[in-house]
Amino acid sequence: MTSHDEENIVSQMTQDSSTLSGCDYCWPASAEDAWHARRDLRELARWVDESHFNVRGLQCVHCSSKFISVFSESIDWINGDDAQSWTTAPVTADEFARVEALVPSSIEAALCAVPAQRRSLRREYPAGGDARVNWTSGIAVGGHD
Ligand SMILES: [Zn+2]
Repeated sequence: MTSHDEENIVSQMTQDSSTLSGCDYCWPASAEDAWHARRDLRELARWVDESHFNVRGLQCVHCSSKFISVFSESIDWINGDDAQSWTTAPVTADEFARVEALVPSSIEAALCAVPAQRRSLRREYPAGGDARVNWTSGIAVGGHD
């Protein structure tokens, strides 16, 4: 496969889910790049802001795509080696509004507004391990304290 073919495939994928894949700035092809790009997203809302769990609404300053971002940390009280995970998924304006509306009553219900098959970015820092960044799907809230 030539690199030209690869470009065609990438642009087709982008078109198929254009409202959900952001732009080259906020949702690049590589998970590592996407993790770095995430730092440039503007925070629209911080619905949950606990030291070991937070849920935020983010937006790309380039294409205005919206994202839901969840951070959770499970405390290792014995070894002090806490596992952390970050999950970010692009959402439609409707989904963003639904999350916003549901968060005050149920965080779990709110996060269900993000389709389970939606491609999302996960960064995990397991206890005693190295951080890794992967593409995954949906927003699964891990255990948190
Ligand atoms: Zn963007």
